[in-house]
Amino acid sequence: MKYIVVTGGVMSGLGKGITMASIGRILKNKGYEVIPIKIDPYINIDAGTMNPYQHGEVYVLGDGTEVDLDLGHYERFMDVELTREHNITTGVVYSAVIERERRGEYLGQTVQIIPHITDEIKTRIRRVADKSDAAICLIEIGGTVGDIESMPFLEAVRQMHCEEEESDFILVHLTLVPFTTLGEPKTKPTQHSVKALRELGLQPDIIVCRSREALNDTVKRKIAMFCNVKPEAVISAPDTDDIYEVPLLLEREGIATYIMNRLRLKVLRNDLKWSEMVERSRAITDNIKVAIVGKYTGLEDSYLSIKEAMKHAATEMGCKVEPKWIESENLESSEDISVFFGDVHGVLVPGGFGVRGAEGKIKAIEYARANKIPFLGLCFGFQLAVIEAARHIAGLEDANSTELGETQHPVIDLQPEQKNLSLKGGTMRLGDYEIFIRADTLAERVYGSKKIIERHRHRYEVNPDYIDLIEQKGVVFSGTDRSGLRMEILEVEGHPFFFATQFHPEFKSRPGKPSPPFRAFVEAAMRYRDERT
Ligand code: GLN
Repeated sequence: MKYIVVTGGVMSGLGKGITMASIGRILKNKGYEVIPIKIDPYINIDAGTMNPYQHGEVYVLGDGTEVDLDLGHYERFMDVELTREHNITTGVVYSAVIERERRGEYLGQTVQIIPHITDEIKTRIRRVADKSDAAICLIEIGGTVGDIESMPFLEAVRQMHCEEEESDFILVHLTLVPFTTLGEPKTKPTQHSVKALRELGLQPDIIVCRSREALNDTVKRKIAMFCNVKPEAVISAPDTDDIYEVPLLLEREGIATYIMNRLRLKVLRNDLKWSEMVERSRAITDNIKVAIVGKYTGLEDSYLSIKEAMKHAATEMGCKVEPKWIESENLESSEDISVFFGDVHGVLVPGGFGVRGAEGKIKAIEYARANKIPFLGLCFGFQLAVIEAARHIAGLEDANSTELGETQHPVIDLQPEQKNLSLKGGTMRLGDYEIFIRADTLAERVYGSKKIIERHRHRYEVNPDYIDLIEQKGVVFSGTDRSGLRMEILEVEGHPFFFATQFHPEFKSRPGKPSPPFRAFVEAAMRYRDERT
């Protein structure tokens, strides 16, 4: 097994995840199966209990694990399906070691970070790598070199470096090269972060430098000299609008040649599909605008997979989507919300939790339904669409979700198994479930299938007592679980496109393989725009 470890220096948020995902994509294009692992040095067992404002969206894997959004980048770039084992957190490692200690399995030893924690980390990495049919395992170490939390992981990686063959292990370090106001690139932060890495016994093989503009050869040579790497191993990664272009940028800088020589790998094929897709998307001039009505709009990463899914769909349809972020609370205080939606061709209400901004989202849904603007509701957006229909079509004026307050008509409610839960982490209805689609519905046309599998992340559901009351005047639950009692899709007949799902289709969308609801939504938005102009 070949290992490529990616660390980061200077500061967080430089795009380590995208860099690693891009390296994976490049190697895949050369004919190699790759398997990624994300190490998150936080104590949380998983990302499920974290506020999106801290780390961006919580991404959900097929097996229901709630993870950091970087795993979304890996799945999309490398086109792989990941599981619980591909995300290693400090919480997971320590709890496994502590449980083993309680079982007496350390036979009287003092249990320590070295070797017990580091052994656990190495075992977990190698187990995932060996179980896969991949030739190359990529490991991203979250955080920044020098953080106290990441020390045991860096130490584990240092040990692996000693234990593996020279041609089986490579360390890629990502840093920032800032530019002064006079436009001069500064290499000192990079030098310092490499120094910090070397103090831990790790020498990078490749340095990827993030910067505003591309770095010239003089700067690269300087970094090479001070950081003890070959000049051709200094890779310039300037800012770009399209993250899917990063694999092409890195490859042009020679990263593939360098990695493959170092790891003694031959080019097995040259798959050009990715670069063709990027070219196609670059050539697009057509444009639509979609309102995204949420409550974390201050941090776009909170809705990352939705943005990406829209991009996949739009590229396929030959247009670009410009998102218009609308903070739902602003709709609540507004008398006339048409000013928010006058210039958009679609309205999307994403997932969410809690009462803040919920009424604003309901107003947006009502507006989209009444004005026949294409609408896509996801998870919380689906539940609020059900509430909107119950209130304004079925006439249940105070219909609501019990998540949002007291009500006579709890059209959205906790399922019995979700009541009185003492544990919050990992207890939602999570991951892949089958959905059965009703014949002759929009859902059937969208998916072209009667049975689909999509990923979930919710606690509340449509209350089965209200299904018959809500299903009238064109409102249809067109997808359910096998029992037929758990509602999964809502649509409104006679509307150009009103589609809401209890599940999260955005998590399965891939570049070149857009998610069907997103594709249909973008198509409807383009049609809406054409009809209006
Ligand atoms: N808050 C809702 C629930 O728990 C919706 C969750 C979501 O949108 N992911 O069911």
